[in-house]
Amino acid sequence: MNSPLRSHPALANRLSSLKPSATVEMSERIRQSRASGHRILGLSSGDPNLPTDPRIVAAAEKAMRDGDTHYSTPAGQPALREAIAAHQRRRSGASYDTADVLVTPGGKFALLTALMGTIGSGDEVLVPEPGWVSYGPCVRLCGGTPVALPMLDHIDPQAIAAKISPATRAIILNSPVNPTGRILPASELSNVIDIARRHDLWIIFDQVYADLSYERPVAFPQGTDVGRARTLVIDSLSKTFGMTGWRLGYLATPPGLGKTIVKFLQHSIYCVPPFVQTAGVAAFALYDELAPRYRTVFRARLERAATALSKVDGIDCPMSDATFYLFPKVAGDDAEVAKYWLDTINVAVLPGSAFGPAGAGHLRLSLSLADVELDEALARIAKAGIGPSVK
Ligand code: PMP
Repeated sequence: MNSPLRSHPALANRLSSLKPSATVEMSERIRQSRASGHRILGLSSGDPNLPTDPRIVAAAEKAMRDGDTHYSTPAGQPALREAIAAHQRRRSGASYDTADVLVTPGGKFALLTALMGTIGSGDEVLVPEPGWVSYGPCVRLCGGTPVALPMLDHIDPQAIAAKISPATRAIILNSPVNPTGRILPASELSNVIDIARRHDLWIIFDQVYADLSYERPVAFPQGTDVGRARTLVIDSLSKTFGMTGWRLGYLATPPGLGKTIVKFLQHSIYCVPPFVQTAGVAAFALYDELAPRYRTVFRARLERAATALSKVDGIDCPMSDATFYLFPKVAGDDAEVAKYWLDTINVAVLPGSAFGPAGAGHLRLSLSLADVELDEALARIAKAGIGPSVK
């Protein structure tokens, strides 16, 4: 019999069509296992294990003590938007009026804000595959339909052309790429810009890992005038400064669009907490000191792990261009290898297929754990091999 507590109207369809996030689910599983005394070595989380620098924490604390604990301006505080505009100019060469820089609670909400501003019911959005697990769901939350665009090793202009329909409104690009660690070369970006211009598409460019690049410079679509006019830039302080829990990111829009898109922030979050924004200003002031240090840490870990993994039978692990992820190829079923490691050696990684079918046959390892734990995980993997599913 139905209890009165269960007697309620149906939830909205927009949620029933969403799959839970594979990365969040794995993090929850690890948290629960740890709570029940299991020692799982987590190579699955997208949270860099960097403590937020104490000077950034102190800036937030001071702002709170000084009484900056009220509503703030929805677009973001001028000092932070100026710091963001200066950072973007320096990284991509694109100059932004601060009116076109909107501060959001994390990069994820910057993505949702960009899609809310550009996508309507029935619109199609090309999403990279393998790609970050939230792109498709965010498109759906805005009433759109995600269309997977396979781009494991390169972006094929013909593959894009084949996916474009009269309903296509935007293409999401991410560079450096989660999960592959690849930097999209300028030549591939310029093909996409050309296609976007010809088909009048928005480019939603997610560059949250751009400050963690090693092998070559990151290319930015907003770095050219044609790209700048139709690119919405998604970025965040989460990965650059070890600030995932602060929820601080931003959207940089084509010229003149900030004042319209900000209406979504006004009517949803109102604003990012002002003391969190003050912490962001402190973070950018420390960029030249902190970013090289973090790059050195992650690069060394990536190199050590890529070398160790490549020695394991059935694993081929190239060094990543950027990020703190490795995306080795495995000679077996990726989901089974991930399960085998979790069940037998307490090492958590994500199967490449969690990032879309084009990621199958790979694993994503996130090197967001202490060096001693990483060494232990690598030793356990070396001993266990890739298990019974080896082809
Ligand atoms: N884009 C990509 C590709 C990511 O991997 C993530 C986080 N895992 C984000 C955006 C969002 O990060 P945040 O909301 O913490 O800024």
